[in-house]
Amino acid sequence: MRRRLKNIRHNYIHQITTSLVKAKPEYVVMENLNTCGMLKNRKLSKAIQEQLFYEFKKQMEYKCALNDIKFILADTFYPSSKTCSICGALKNKLSLSERTFICDECGYEIDRDLNASINLKNYGKSIA
Ligand SMILES: [Zn+2]
Repeated sequence: MRRRLKNIRHNYIHQITTSLVKAKPEYVVMENLNTCGMLKNRKLSKAIQEQLFYEFKKQMEYKCALNDIKFILADTFYPSSKTCSICGALKNKLSLSERTFICDECGYEIDRDLNASINLKNYGKSIA
């Protein structure tokens, strides 16, 4: 049973990473594992979450290399979630329960994960 579950997870990650690479991006940016952020999914143990993350990262890196796509790992301290993707202002605090990012400087409102994704895209563009 454990083995079966492992295979299902493995296949799922395989499908996702393949579909991402098929979109032929110029580059892919990933952040290192944020254990704190991932703990919000309480149904999965921390160990499994870490294992899934590293499996995902490994496959992504491998498939990017095969397809001539630049793979960028963002600096661990890059504040992708706390930075406003419009004006660049940095928030002091953004708790995990805040799912919407609201900028203190310009008032911009956006989904927290989308904001972080845009920041990572720009991060990649600046060094790609
Ligand atoms: Zn702003």
